[in-house]
Amino acid sequence: MPSVVAPSAERRAARYARRPSQAVAERMARALRHRLLLLDRPSPNTFLVLGATSNVYTVTLSTSPSCSCPDPRAPCKHILFVLVRALDLALTDPRLWQRALLTTEVADLLARATSSAAPLAGPKTRTRFEATRVAQGHGDGVVRGRGGLCPVCFEGMDDEGEVVVCGRCRNGLHRECWGEWKRRGGRRRLRCVVCRGVWREERESGGYVNLGEEVEEEENWGGERGIEELYPETWGWIRRWQERDA
Ligand SMILES: [Zn+2]
Ligand SMILES: [Zn+2]
Ligand SMILES: [Zn+2]
Repeated sequence: MPSVVAPSAERRAARYARRPSQAVAERMARALRHRLLLLDRPSPNTFLVLGATSNVYTVTLSTSPSCSCPDPRAPCKHILFVLVRALDLALTDPRLWQRALLTTEVADLLARATSSAAPLAGPKTRTRFEATRVAQGHGDGVVRGRGGLCPVCFEGMDDEGEVVVCGRCRNGLHRECWGEWKRRGGRRRLRCVVCRGVWREERESGGYVNLGEEVEEEENWGGERGIEELYPETWGWIRRWQERDA
């Protein structure tokens, strides 16, 4: 008699969480309250998120969702932002507070269209982002100083010559070309060749595309409104969880 073999159940890479911990509930609140914008979704599982400091983070959805931000905890607020605001997951969907997902759970996420209600970066910001990453030939949202073409002379920056890197957009250029740009600018305020943000040389930190302070002006990132005001229903929901945990 042929036996019916059930497909072997997939094991979640992390223990299933029945409800969000206090820490996750707080990150969910931050994901909704902070100024985060969706810049692009270059593939079904890849989301480029513009943070309030104008850094660009890459969120990758898989059975272990990840983000390029410095927060080692999963899900970080960028992952939560993608799930709730870009993919319209209900705030009660248990996938929100799992550290690991099952293949079927991920498949459903990737099949979802980007929500028409997702907060998108404005056209100027998107254009600037394209220019910034194309200038260096990187599509992953992370721009490095070397390996591309210098935006001044269009010669390679691979081997010879000193390179300086913009602390805002992370684009590099030859130090020599930078000197020339500076000289021609005369007494005007020094700005980056690529992002046109006020020049600040890269220190050994970050590694993210930064779109500069003009983005903040464009996106009108002024004062922060509270989550109570922006998303009263969400706030009530998060508060209930917090009270239950307390
Ligand atoms: Zn993140
Ligand atoms: Zn050059
Ligand atoms: Zn720059």
